[in-house]
Amino acid sequence: MAWRCTGATNAELIKNLARSQIIKSDRALAAMNKVDRAHYVLWKDEAYQDSPQPIGYDATISAPHMHAHATENLIPFLKPGARVLDVGSGSGYLCAIFYHLVAGDPKVTGGGKVVGIEHIPQLVEWSVGNLRKDGLGAAVDEGRIEMVAGDGRQGYAKEGPYDAIHVGAAAPTMPKALVDQLARPGRMFIPVGIGSQQIIQVDKDEEGRVTETALFDVMYVPLTDRP
Ligand code: SAH
Repeated sequence: MAWRCTGATNAELIKNLARSQIIKSDRALAAMNKVDRAHYVLWKDEAYQDSPQPIGYDATISAPHMHAHATENLIPFLKPGARVLDVGSGSGYLCAIFYHLVAGDPKVTGGGKVVGIEHIPQLVEWSVGNLRKDGLGAAVDEGRIEMVAGDGRQGYAKEGPYDAIHVGAAAPTMPKALVDQLARPGRMFIPVGIGSQQIIQVDKDEEGRVTETALFDVMYVPLTDRP
């Protein structure tokens, strides 16, 4: 059903995601409208299709409806000033959306930060170029968006803990390092499973208690060793 969200323009794609109730909040709607998906894909004439697209190196940019689901799920934790980790950041598209949500006013909130971690260095470099084309060069230069080459299964403890963690590739089992790097409170949106996968919402409360909620079945590329 989500596939019918395809539009002729970015604005139309986002409008269709909202009409289908996949984007529910005004904040997610505003953030997604600020990011032009055409800057994050290889096949520009299919930029506004609600489908995944190959980005090289066996990676894909996820379908817009999956990015919308992830954003909506994490939105209570994507407040101005929040710190966010995107594992398997690929194209950088979701990092851009998260950035618009957490940036805030550095004088008021201390400024948010988004870290994208991706194990293919060529994709890291490409994603930085994509973010620049999308008008986020200053955020990259000032370190408010940091794109790191590395094994995302280990997270990126140096910049943690994170109010929100998004994982864009399926883990065979729940990665402990990522749960450890969640703030109190914090939430992670992660596909888990081999073969059949489910999105698991991992919540850590103020006392550090962790609960897992299975949301829905998905098909993601696996979190792997670097090929
Ligand atoms: N969310 C991104 C990419 C999704 S595809 C987007 O929508 O553009 C999943 C990504 O995870 C791929 O880019 C792949 O290279 C990356 N990946 C797979 N295993 C990884 C690992 N161990 N560490 C970091 N990144 C990984």
